[in-house]
Amino acid sequence: MSSRRQASLLGESLRMPSSLWSATAIAGPTLKPLERSETADVIIVGAGYTGLSAAIHLAEAGLSCVVLDAAEPGWGASGRNNGQVIAGLKQDPEVIERLYPGEQGRKLVQFGSEAPTQVWELIKRHGIDCAANHRGWIQPAFTRTGFATVKARCEAWRQRGIHTRMLEGNELHILLGTNQYSLGWLDPRGGSVQPLSYARGLAQVAINLGVKIYAPSKVESLRSKDDQWIAETGQARVTGKHVLVATGAYAERLVPKLRTSFVPVRTAQVATRPLPDAMRKVILPKGHVSSDTRQLLTSFRLSPDGRLVMGGSGATAGLDHSAIVPYLHKAGEELFGHLGRLEWDFQWSGYFAVTTDHLPHVHEPERNLHISVGCNGRGIAVSTSLGIQLAKRILGMAAAELPVPVSSIGTVKFHVFRGLGVKAATVCKRLQDYLG
Ligand SMILES: Cc1cc2nc3c(=O)[nH]c(=O)nc-3n(C[C@H](O)[C@H](O)[C@H](O)COP(=O)(O)OP(=O)(O)OC[C@H]3O[C@@H](n4cnc5c(N)ncnc54)[C@H](O)[C@@H]3O)c2cc1C
Repeated sequence: MSSRRQASLLGESLRMPSSLWSATAIAGPTLKPLERSETADVIIVGAGYTGLSAAIHLAEAGLSCVVLDAAEPGWGASGRNNGQVIAGLKQDPEVIERLYPGEQGRKLVQFGSEAPTQVWELIKRHGIDCAANHRGWIQPAFTRTGFATVKARCEAWRQRGIHTRMLEGNELHILLGTNQYSLGWLDPRGGSVQPLSYARGLAQVAINLGVKIYAPSKVESLRSKDDQWIAETGQARVTGKHVLVATGAYAERLVPKLRTSFVPVRTAQVATRPLPDAMRKVILPKGHVSSDTRQLLTSFRLSPDGRLVMGGSGATAGLDHSAIVPYLHKAGEELFGHLGRLEWDFQWSGYFAVTTDHLPHVHEPERNLHISVGCNGRGIAVSTSLGIQLAKRILGMAAAELPVPVSSIGTVKFHVFRGLGVKAATVCKRLQDYLG
């Protein structure tokens, strides 16, 4: 294996990026690369939430697992996100039920709805130290169209038995700490985590249950022989009956066509210095987290150490996030600048996987090869839960029982022009937000 191939995934350095989360996370387990060949019941490629959650649930059921990560647990989107645990998939319940009429649609909606519960339960059961905060998620409307969206979303979930409620006027201003919005809804299923601590905590739980994690160990090839899967890292190999590819947006060429079945989209995050007490008491004073209805979704929360963390506000298909950061700073100023000076301290970014139907995909292109991809920016809860479902499938659950239907690997048209596509979509959405 050449050192150049070892050096990056989708062009990024394999070192943990400098971010607020890497500066404040719990320590990760000490790991070594795979040096000697091994066998296991299940090989897992990728130590993000999907792979680690699957590993924990497989180990609890008594299967041996080897997890291989090209960098380290949480290096991918799992250690770089905004930490907002949000219920539901990117598509609204009625859209999902229209796309999948009957039982399948109902199961998929329920899967998204219950996904945060799996996160809270896992954290509690294993005592993961990740500043978990289950105080709810607020989605305020950014434009007039957003008014209708938040009303419809709140009602859709209320009809499905969730105690959502509308927020308006003064109550909303107080709960957010800004009067930039006049209408929103509160989803009690949501909350927040320190995302890298959550990933590292999951890795430690997996190890405690007997899972072997090797990192940095990039899987360079996957092949099957005599009903066994073989994952080669260049240095050694792991042989196992099942393989789970949980490489998220960072999938390269391990599985044919997987890389072109979604678009890796980069989004950025910024964080201030710790805010003065007076500002902390006003911004999201009850501990909620929030993302608004902008086309270029804008998220904000306080970190466990009292900083304002903003995310979204733009996207790119390339490595450079510098064009997005000024929009995030501006959004922060517009929302909270009236409270005092915001001194920006950190900026970082990462890729998440966007599929054409904005839903997660599960593939089984060959016997005992399991793949999931495409959390579309809603991955903390959804990836954790998908990991559980994929573990059940490996343990023998019928494919038809999976809440996310097994599909063949599709291809995003004109994938080669994705850079232009993301750029055009960003400009268009920014204009829509401005006009709205
Ligand atoms: C900036 C940003 C903000 C976000 N904000 C939120 C949010 O607030 N709330 C939310 O719910 N979701 C959010 N998301 C989405 C969420 O973070 C992801 O959906 C989720 O983390 C995906 O987890 P994963 O396990 O599928 O993939 P990842 O965490 O990306 O992990 C994939 C792993 O695979 C490894 N890998 C890849 N190829 C190989 C190989 N060949 N060999 C070995 N290892 C390999 C990588 O090293 C990586 O560690 C955000 C995403 C980003 C990027």
